[in-house]
Amino acid sequence: MIKDFNYYNTLLVQSVGSKVGPIAPTIVPSAAYGYEDAEQAEAIFAGEVNLPLYARVGNPTNIKLESVVAKMEGGLGAIATASGMGALSMVTTAFLKNGDEVLCIGGFFGGTYTLINETMKRFGVTNSFCDTDDFEYIESTLKCGVKMVIMESVGNPSLRLPDMKRIVDLCNVYETLLVVDNTATPLIVQPLELGADIVVHSSTKNMSGHSAALGGIAVFRAVKEEGDKLLNEKYADVHKIVKKMGKKAFIPICKKRAIRDMGMTANAFGSFLTLLGLETLSLRVERINKSVAQVAKILDEQLPEGVSVNHPSLPESEDYARYQLDFEHGCGPLLTLDCGSKEKAFTLLNKLTLVTQTANIGDNRTLALHMTSTIYSDFDEVARKFLGVHEGLIRVSIGLEDPQTIADDFLQAANEN
Ligand SMILES: *Cc1c(COP(=O)(O)O)cnc(C)c1O
Repeated sequence: MIKDFNYYNTLLVQSVGSKVGPIAPTIVPSAAYGYEDAEQAEAIFAGEVNLPLYARVGNPTNIKLESVVAKMEGGLGAIATASGMGALSMVTTAFLKNGDEVLCIGGFFGGTYTLINETMKRFGVTNSFCDTDDFEYIESTLKCGVKMVIMESVGNPSLRLPDMKRIVDLCNVYETLLVVDNTATPLIVQPLELGADIVVHSSTKNMSGHSAALGGIAVFRAVKEEGDKLLNEKYADVHKIVKKMGKKAFIPICKKRAIRDMGMTANAFGSFLTLLGLETLSLRVERINKSVAQVAKILDEQLPEGVSVNHPSLPESEDYARYQLDFEHGCGPLLTLDCGSKEKAFTLLNKLTLVTQTANIGDNRTLALHMTSTIYSDFDEVARKFLGVHEGLIRVSIGLEDPQTIADDFLQAANEN
């Protein structure tokens, strides 16, 4: 069952600070850490003593952030990274090698699409992409030994909603790692509780909320004592770590096979800012998810001919039924506008007075961006079509302002044409 916002308000404010000593999180900026003696150094390097080793593989401020987010997502542990793309690069490079295949389900953030379809491909990892609801295809690729499945809790910017439970169950039947990007829906979707293996976030977005800290985080489930999917032959190259480290194994797998060698580590100051954001995350998520549906409704009723709004809370949306069933607290801060053409979209954007034009989402302020001329400018027609991106599309991320005032800004910008 989904835990409510009261639960998270209590959990987050009580977990971020300390009761004794400095009550705000402490920033530990040191890059290196002195060891008591040679024996302790040996034990720290062996992972037997849990003390800071060197900031590339972790620091005390990151550890604090990791423990709060692990609790929030219902995971065993987490690793904070330099950005959301850092978290995705870490989990993909930790598990995949030349010759492996990834299955990507549904719509994707532009950076994730290019990570898989350009960068990982360059290193010999093959891929395929399929529609959110193409279960026949999903099952057939899982049967063929796909090594990792990646999906977003809500397609950005397609706003397609997946049947996550069904995908989770299939990945568990075929013993395939499932990575869910939960950036758009912290607290309102709980992928690990549904049975996913790894959750990643761009903490730059909702978690931090203030557009002040670039960051990412991956959260992991516990490895089962017996019959875990990581013991499948497909994952033979991590068996040594799984056998040695037991239920915590996801963490050393990512540290030793990605963080240590590629250094996509979070910094202490960024993690401190993200922790501050987490104290109010639940309040902000509750407010923003209510506002998105309100703004969508007003725009749906009042936008002039030629401009339309898309959000799964609207009865005409293709995912309306799934929204009602699985997304009782909302599906994140996004809605989209279809203006029909790039020119009309630009005219509307340039008339906005309250809304900020920028590439971020999940901010405290309302943001908007034209898609094909920015994030997706490098993408060909086939990729754009798959990702649900077209010339007239504006992505909007609703903030904390008064919902009527937000809607009014879009209405005046759309009407004055
Ligand atoms: C922004 C975003 C990312 C990438 O995060 P960065 O912190 O910008 O690297 C990944 N996934 C989704 C869904 C995002 O919105």
